[in-house]
Amino acid sequence: MDESVSFVKQNFLNAFGESPSVVSRAPGRVEVLGNHTDYNEGYVLSFAVDKGVWAACGGSTTEQIKLLSSHYGDSPITLHETVPQKENPWTNYPLGVYAVLRDNGFPVRPFNMAVYGNVPLGAGLSSSAALEVACGIALTTLFDFQVEPAELAKHCQRAEHTFAGTHCGLLDQFSSIFGKKDHVLFIDFRSLDHQTIPLPSHNLCVAVTTSGISHSLVESAYNERREECARAATFFSRSDPSVRTLRDISPERLMSAKGALDDTAYRRALHIVGENERVLNGIQLLRQGDLVQFGKLLHQSHESSRVNFENSCPELDTLVDIAGMIEGVYGSRLTGGGFGGATLSLLDWESREEFEAKIREKYTAKTGAEANVYFASVDDGARVVEP
Ligand code: ADP
Ligand code: MG
Repeated sequence: MDESVSFVKQNFLNAFGESPSVVSRAPGRVEVLGNHTDYNEGYVLSFAVDKGVWAACGGSTTEQIKLLSSHYGDSPITLHETVPQKENPWTNYPLGVYAVLRDNGFPVRPFNMAVYGNVPLGAGLSSSAALEVACGIALTTLFDFQVEPAELAKHCQRAEHTFAGTHCGLLDQFSSIFGKKDHVLFIDFRSLDHQTIPLPSHNLCVAVTTSGISHSLVESAYNERREECARAATFFSRSDPSVRTLRDISPERLMSAKGALDDTAYRRALHIVGENERVLNGIQLLRQGDLVQFGKLLHQSHESSRVNFENSCPELDTLVDIAGMIEGVYGSRLTGGGFGGATLSLLDWESREEFEAKIREKYTAKTGAEANVYFASVDDGARVVEP
């Protein structure tokens, strides 16, 4: 049996004096291409990775929910009320999932749960979605009811909004649920249609590198970008009511508005429209087996973030520049919201040691900050592990 499964089962047994009825596992995810496109109803490519969260779960004879995480002590936390928790904030993720399912009429009851995860927290791999989805899958199995996977993703997202207070997009939960080993997941954020496309290599290493930089204004900068994108879309919808978001704008149409649209809104739109194009081109390149050209799209995406969307920073640019000079690296770009945070690089597994050594050394030499590198492979989406 998988070590993580036996570990989480043992933790459950130690804490609750019996074996769990269900064990689930949900992976972390990484945004590969399609930056800030989700709220513009555009396209994204993402991976589920081989780091995840395991949840061991059993019914309770009491009216309380008891939660234990190997990250946060040895004894379970007893929750008396289904309201957002100030103490032990991590419990908001499982509690939120429970509350949202209950409020949507699903037959959930109080439960005991032990969690183990190896997704680094806050590193850009979405440990929070992995935790929510693992919990959601465990509860549907424990209490024997069905939820459409896309609906479950939305319930988990809602849990994060209302209980953890983080206004995350749906990408994280969708990727954790629908990701597939050695495939990239394509999501259309207008229709929520999704499909997986096989990767041309079984030797692809995913490196997520944290910059150690987090800007205090991330939230306001993010909202500002959303407003700028909406402003650009409104410019077009005034003369064409069929335009709802930047998703409806082709590169040619955008180009024809240069000069008429204010420069900031134009560049923001250029990024979004360009990202949508790159995602569609990227799918074609992967189908043709061309990882080298695919990697170049990652660099173009970063360049567009730097120049057009202005959601990069000197540290992320440095990480991407260093990665670009390392043999065996296909491409590199900032991943997620930006303004600090992490980069994604795609490389061959053989290049992993050289990658880590060069990134760490050169990054610190240039910026004085410290980078952490997490390697992963592309893995399957969430599932019930036991029974
Ligand atoms: P990210 O999702 O990018 O990793 P977030 O800040 O959204 O970062 O979520 C991290 C939070 O999720 C942690 O602070 C913790 O509350 C919760 N979390 C993630 N994994 C676990 C785990 N294995 N056990 C308990 N809490 C976890
Ligand atoms: Mg998160």
